[in-house]
Amino acid sequence: MQTQRQDSLIGFDRNHLWHPYTSMRDPLPVFPVASAAGVRIRLADGRELIDGMSSWWAAIHGYSHPVLVKAMQEQAATMAHVMFGGLTHEPAVELGRLLLAITPEPLTRIFFSDSGSVSVEVALKMALQYQHALGRPERHRLLTVRGGYHGDTFHAMSVCDPVTGMHTLFAGSLPKQLFAPRPGCRFGGPWREEDITPMAELLERHADEVAAVILEPVVQGAGGMWFYHPQYLRELHRLCHRHQVLLIFDEIATGFGRTGTLFACEHAGVTPDILCLGKALTGGCLTLAATLATDEVAETISAATPGLFMHGPTFMANPLACRVALASVRLLLESPWQERIRAMEEQMRSELAPAAGLPAVRDVRVLGGIGVIETREPVDMARLQEFFVSRGVWIRPFGHLLYLMPPYIIEADELRSLTAALVAAAREGG
Ligand SMILES: *Cc1c(COP(=O)(O)O)cnc(C)c1O
Repeated sequence: MQTQRQDSLIGFDRNHLWHPYTSMRDPLPVFPVASAAGVRIRLADGRELIDGMSSWWAAIHGYSHPVLVKAMQEQAATMAHVMFGGLTHEPAVELGRLLLAITPEPLTRIFFSDSGSVSVEVALKMALQYQHALGRPERHRLLTVRGGYHGDTFHAMSVCDPVTGMHTLFAGSLPKQLFAPRPGCRFGGPWREEDITPMAELLERHADEVAAVILEPVVQGAGGMWFYHPQYLRELHRLCHRHQVLLIFDEIATGFGRTGTLFACEHAGVTPDILCLGKALTGGCLTLAATLATDEVAETISAATPGLFMHGPTFMANPLACRVALASVRLLLESPWQERIRAMEEQMRSELAPAAGLPAVRDVRVLGGIGVIETREPVDMARLQEFFVSRGVWIRPFGHLLYLMPPYIIEADELRSLTAALVAAAREGG
């Protein structure tokens, strides 16, 4: 009976439900999940998997955390949603207060939206409206670095890496943006002045048509899991200021502690004009994102015609999502998250190190709660998923990357199961 129900579930899923980046003709295998608690995902067939993904950077406290469940239950019983046009509520205001208290100083204005991609669209739109308000409508292009990922909507896609980011497929409908090479100097390695030169030259040449520079500070996520030198950001900040180009940091992946500081921009001591947050904002419980801006950006937009910022999603500042975000950020701040990240970093560094000598491996790198084995050849995703599940872990590689970003609450022995599986996969050639 149980198996029959599962077969029919998988059958319907295969035939009718699209999964992220998959084919409807030849879909990758999917595993039915019954429940998840702590760092464990329980499959419908009873098997338990230790989670190494935090559901894409989001579930930092693990799953079904009682504090977050309670926050959602209480809010659901009071008011799951109400429109944000003309109305406001405590969950949005309290979350706003807390975000301003923990993000760098000059960021004072917050726009809530419902996904990371939309928060990027909002940031880009703010930059365009800002330049327009200053009487410089010709500054409508964006400048970024290669190897970035900013989401799947159109303008966000236009600033993703041009090779891995689907630019060819959608070339006809994507705005043509400017790309500097990926920052080359590694995090923790020596800084070389030449690293910023191509970016400086692009700004010099194109400043009169560029509204903003957007990039992921310190860690490039889905575009290659690359960790670069914070000095790049200090130099870039200086250049943007000189050319009156806005600086946008996309911290949707890096925000809320993952890199060892609460926000990755703290590694550089640089505050952007606009900051995007998402993913771990609600501890992985609901979809919510935020775009933060300085007074200067908000006042400039508001002072010029039409005097409004032209965006307003239906589910803006959803109370349920704001309430659980508030609970999640408080939970994070009350927890020993720095020690947990540091312990995770040390353990991954020592346990992933043996992979560095393997023939299939190009590079091994660890920063904060992110551990990466980069392979020479693309990995076989379908085969590896089965391999990892058979070892009782949930790890989802892509491209040339075998990587971990476990929930912060993971114990050392659980993390050891993840690192052992990752090294074993690399040993088998990815
Ligand atoms: C995931 C991600 C996004 C997109 O967020 P969605 O919620 O998937 O729309 C944007 N930027 C970065 C850096 C991300 O990691």
